[in-house]
Amino acid sequence: MSSGTSDPNKPNVLDMARQQLAVAAKHLDLDEGLHAALAVPKRQLIVNFPVVMDNGTVEVFQGYRVQHNLSRGPTKGGIRYHPDVDIDETTALAMWMTWKCAIADIPYGGAKGAVKVNTKKLSRRELEKLTRRYVSEIGIIIGPNEDIPAPDMGTNAQTMAWIMDTYSMQRGATYTGVVTGKPIPLGGSLGREEATGRGVVTSAEEACKFLNISMDGARVVVQGFGNVGSHAARLIEEKGAKVIAVSDATGAIYNPGGLPIHTLISRYAHREGGIREFAECDKITNEELLELDCDILIPAATAEQIHEGNANRLKARLVVEGANGPTTPAADSILSGKGVFVVPDVLANAGGVIVSYFEWVQDLAAFFWEEHEVNAKLERIMRNSFHNVLTTMHQHKTDMRTAAYIIGVKRVADATITRGIYP
Ligand code: GLU
Repeated sequence: MSSGTSDPNKPNVLDMARQQLAVAAKHLDLDEGLHAALAVPKRQLIVNFPVVMDNGTVEVFQGYRVQHNLSRGPTKGGIRYHPDVDIDETTALAMWMTWKCAIADIPYGGAKGAVKVNTKKLSRRELEKLTRRYVSEIGIIIGPNEDIPAPDMGTNAQTMAWIMDTYSMQRGATYTGVVTGKPIPLGGSLGREEATGRGVVTSAEEACKFLNISMDGARVVVQGFGNVGSHAARLIEEKGAKVIAVSDATGAIYNPGGLPIHTLISRYAHREGGIREFAECDKITNEELLELDCDILIPAATAEQIHEGNANRLKARLVVEGANGPTTPAADSILSGKGVFVVPDVLANAGGVIVSYFEWVQDLAAFFWEEHEVNAKLERIMRNSFHNVLTTMHQHKTDMRTAAYIIGVKRVADATITRGIYP
């Protein structure tokens, strides 16, 4: 997904993020100057850097780190490795992080980083060198008190370990708090890896209660089988739901009787051929998957999957957004007209950054929590946030996305006003 896509159904993601902000600004009657300040990032760093590849040639890569807003604390947000990523997409993702942290009421502003790269074409050694060089380049603006990266699409705990090590080596001391989503022995938090998926499922549970959908036997479709989708599918199956379809980069699979999620994760997800090698199912396309008759649809792949061109054909009653930006504003209006209840990304997928916050707190205190504490605290924040958004939705007679934005934007605006504008 590139922000500059030519598909008319897929607007520039930064325009999309600004449109969503504008709707909330209107509800809040936000001061025009303040709105203008929130519509732009505070800092955008673009870095071009060389890496010596395994065959001895030099390749130049482009990377980004964008800090959108730091009124409520240091900035926080993942690092994405993807061939189509660009500065606009990274900026939109940073802006979404600002609202996400504010809605969950954790003391961070929003940031995002990215490198334009197809990781499938790199050896492990090349990937490590690329990561270390990228961190050296953005090292001037990240830090435990400044801006704390984490995993996102294309990066994982190993990437975070290299980031922590590079930042630390350059300073001559170990700084575990510079990055979250690390391996457990290096200052990672128990429960972090599955946290986004767990938060998605907690949101789905709360939404089901509100909509009177029984989780027991609910038919669930999950788009994407990466960190978010696979854990969400596993945890929702444990709650008694039936996952009838999932997809990964190789395509989608469907079985109305339910798919064995544990088997798919342990035996198929990491194969070259992916989940499509599983036999007892129908092979379908990604488009068909989104339009399946189901109770809950969890888009957990990439942005702009539900758009003007397919929103009308969606049959789910409830959409819980695991990905960032999976629904375009045009699709939002269509879904709301059809009575589809959408739990927006900035609320539904906040579990990752919430447990990242716990990890950072544990690193700074050098005191580590048990997994049940992490999960209980995560679920409490998710449920509280969900109910705050629901109450705001009723007060403003709007949808969940706008209500979430109203809360997030107001918290950031209030912090800015209370701090005052320097000098
Ligand atoms: N990349 C994740 C997100 O989009 C997690 C960010 C974090 O943990 O800082 O929310």
